[in-house]
Amino acid sequence: MAAKKPIKKAAPKKKAARPKAAPFRLTYATMFTPPEELHTRYEKALAQLKGRLGQDQPMLINGQDRFTEAKFEDRSPINTNWVLGIFQKGSAQDAQDALAAAAAAWPKWAGLKWQDRVRLVRKAAAQIEKRVYEIGAALSLEVGKNRMEGLGDAQETADLIYYACDQLEANGGYIKEMGRDPLVGFKATNTSILRPYGVWVVISPWNFPFALAGGPTGAALVAGNTVVFKPATDTPWTGRLLAECVRDAGIPDGVFNFVTGPGSTVGQTLIDDPRVAGITFTGSYDVGMHIYRSFAAGKYPRPVIAEMGGKNPSIVTKGANLEDAATGIVRSAFGLQGQKCSANSRIFVENAVKDKLLAKLLDKTRAIAIGDPTLRTNWLGPVANANQYRDFGDYCEELSQAGTILHGGHKLTGVKDGLDYSQGYYCEPTLVDGVPASHRLWQSEMFLPIAMVEGFDDLTYALTRANDVAYGLTAGFYGSKKEAAWFFDQIQAGVTYANRPQGATTGAWPGFQPFGGWKGSGSSGKNGGGLYYVPLYMHEQIRTNIERA
Ligand code: NAP
Ligand code: MG
Repeated sequence: MAAKKPIKKAAPKKKAARPKAAPFRLTYATMFTPPEELHTRYEKALAQLKGRLGQDQPMLINGQDRFTEAKFEDRSPINTNWVLGIFQKGSAQDAQDALAAAAAAWPKWAGLKWQDRVRLVRKAAAQIEKRVYEIGAALSLEVGKNRMEGLGDAQETADLIYYACDQLEANGGYIKEMGRDPLVGFKATNTSILRPYGVWVVISPWNFPFALAGGPTGAALVAGNTVVFKPATDTPWTGRLLAECVRDAGIPDGVFNFVTGPGSTVGQTLIDDPRVAGITFTGSYDVGMHIYRSFAAGKYPRPVIAEMGGKNPSIVTKGANLEDAATGIVRSAFGLQGQKCSANSRIFVENAVKDKLLAKLLDKTRAIAIGDPTLRTNWLGPVANANQYRDFGDYCEELSQAGTILHGGHKLTGVKDGLDYSQGYYCEPTLVDGVPASHRLWQSEMFLPIAMVEGFDDLTYALTRANDVAYGLTAGFYGSKKEAAWFFDQIQAGVTYANRPQGATTGAWPGFQPFGGWKGSGSSGKNGGGLYYVPLYMHEQIRTNIERA
């Protein structure tokens, strides 16, 4: 079922003679041709936000704003002189207070009729939609997203929450009558009911800080859990905006709590606490596996939904439409500066068409406009933080020695063509060829605008290479229909695409492409924004009742 209320253009009133274009609905696949109104509303929201940067932004614990003595600054990667806000460097005690509030609020929240929870959680999604331009602009400033990516992250969050609510409804609150035992002299009824676990911790990454906080939060809440949410230290502002949307929806105090501070202290306190019944973590493989393992050291097994990294391949055969392949690959390799877990970082192309594809990839990559991503003209913004910026230089150095950098490889500094790169973390989109198959960077996620290319003669070899990583998140294919069917069967990945110019490996949208990974990319085997997601937040109880006939 599709989620509700997209950002819409007013529908044309009179009957069109030609088939009417569908009203605009923002998704990552449609974002390349938005209506003009979307630009003007974004620009207005951005100007308003820029007029009120630098505020002291509290945590939200048990419905109360909480300020602490220790603070940290949130600066924009677009221009590091812009202080977006001052945030609370929470302590272990703050994390514990948030858990206590969530534990106290849980019995009542879990005891509500599921229909009442659906109604309240939908209001949180509606709050997000009401503020979607403001949130989208904040995402640009905080992460360095271009306007369509910023708005996408915000709208996707509302759609994820609506989808979770729709699923609960479509499944009758996950209450199902089972078979009746064939007993003589007794009447038996059996009911399966999915029930919430308790206090749920949500820990999110900085690259999709809104959707990967709001999506899990929506599912956890509507399932009847209470939530403690910790954002990444790079993105506390959008975390606070989410907390405001949930609060303003009228969700009772303590049901949703928001704490800020380092992962190593606040985060670790949350995962170590025995009151926590379940966790959704989205972030790197190393931290995810650490959480998965340490959570297992508790007294009994508790669910950990760990969504981790990717090293996503695309495969292009000589039967491919090379124009579509190049368009999709460039979008997925460099969109959001290559900092999507779904980014296309490995490109395998049949040698017969390799030169042709490379020529197209190079043309399109050279044409990318880089700079302040809040400006309409720029598609590529800065990388998100100083670590990413440093890593870019290190990786490019290593790759220039191992292979050939076909394009890019440098940081952008100073002022060029009227664009000022001097205060932000700007990097060139980088294409690399000729790196030996045994090189370590074919295996590890760089999470930057760097894509590596390898030619092949044998499709089975390409497929083996595509699967030969610890990850299994997304994968793309360009070639014949028959080859694509084979690819779908053989590839080890949770989200797969064939012949898609909108993105080789990126651009999933709830209700269309539920998102999740196999192997080292994800622990649950079920995708977010999909059919089987909400039940991950519930455990089953069978209720058998016997009456004497
Ligand atoms: P990260 O460094 O693993 O951090 C993720 C979150 O974990 C942050 O909130 C971080 O807090 C927190 N954290 C760190 N150490 C912790 C600990 N000991 N206990 C509890 N929490 C802790 O990841 P990132 O750099 O933010 O994000 C990039 C990664 O996310 C990439 O690997 C990307 O592929 C992955 N990702 C995956 C998906 C997916 O759906 N599979 C989606 C998006 C991103 P601090 O920021 O305070 O350290
Ligand atoms: Mg990090």
